[in-house]
Amino acid sequence: MIEAKDLNFSYDVDILKNIAFSISESSICTILGPNGSGKSTLLKILDKLLKPKKGTVLIENENLENLSIKNVAKKIAYLAQENEVSFSFSVFDIVLTGRAHNVGMLNQPSKEDIKIAKKAISLVGLQNLINKPFTQLSGGQKRLVLIAQALAQEAKILLFDEPTNHLDFSNQYAILNLIKNLIKKHNLTAIITLHDPNLAAWISDIVIMIKNGSLLKFGPVKSIMNAQNLSELYETKITVINNNGKLFITPLEFI
Ligand code: ADP
Ligand code: MG
Repeated sequence: MIEAKDLNFSYDVDILKNIAFSISESSICTILGPNGSGKSTLLKILDKLLKPKKGTVLIENENLENLSIKNVAKKIAYLAQENEVSFSFSVFDIVLTGRAHNVGMLNQPSKEDIKIAKKAISLVGLQNLINKPFTQLSGGQKRLVLIAQALAQEAKILLFDEPTNHLDFSNQYAILNLIKNLIKKHNLTAIITLHDPNLAAWISDIVIMIKNGSLLKFGPVKSIMNAQNLSELYETKITVINNNGKLFITPLEFI
């Protein structure tokens, strides 16, 4: 479904080095790594927002380089790390822009587009705020609006950069559970960045561990989410408790 081959990227200095992985349909992959390790940069490359210095991304066996912006939007929905909308649009208007790739420049959105936008808003539980200006929402509510906008795109691939950013404790689980159910029900594919390895272990099929721009480990949760790899990744002594297959991960040093 998505394959990255030998990806390299640099701003003024080298950021990503020889990143390679392949993710199949209907799976959830989490990217873990310390701050500044290159997670957001990698997601931006996968959404064609940044161009790799070297290497290739294949989306359903097609080279990302050959896909138009419109076709990228049909296949891939991307959620940025921060809530970056500053205009005073309503919740509904913002989610409806998720349909933009389906609406021609001079055309009005169709009844179907409106229905899809409303459905995405109720999926994230914001139907009561549908007409509220985005700028008047809390950080967490803004996050949910942008997640709904991405869902309204109806893309097969979801790239979510810290979807749990700004969400309260219970909403972090609620939104990841929603994403998980959507992925499995509609055979989608998600690549998500998260800071909490507990959430990653719970939601993911596959994990990519990135440290200083290099791939430390890539593989199924069961094979790579262990104390040794996590301690190496975060340079902190970490313990992993396995309770009937459910992993509880905590840094030992601070408790
Ligand atoms: P992460 O998402 O893992 O925290 P990022 O991908 O955001 O990491 O950043 C990786 C590295 O690239 C960091 O060292 C960061 O400072 C650098 N970086 C990010 N964006 C830019 C930019 N626009 N220009 C120069 N350096 C950048
Ligand atoms: Mg980031």
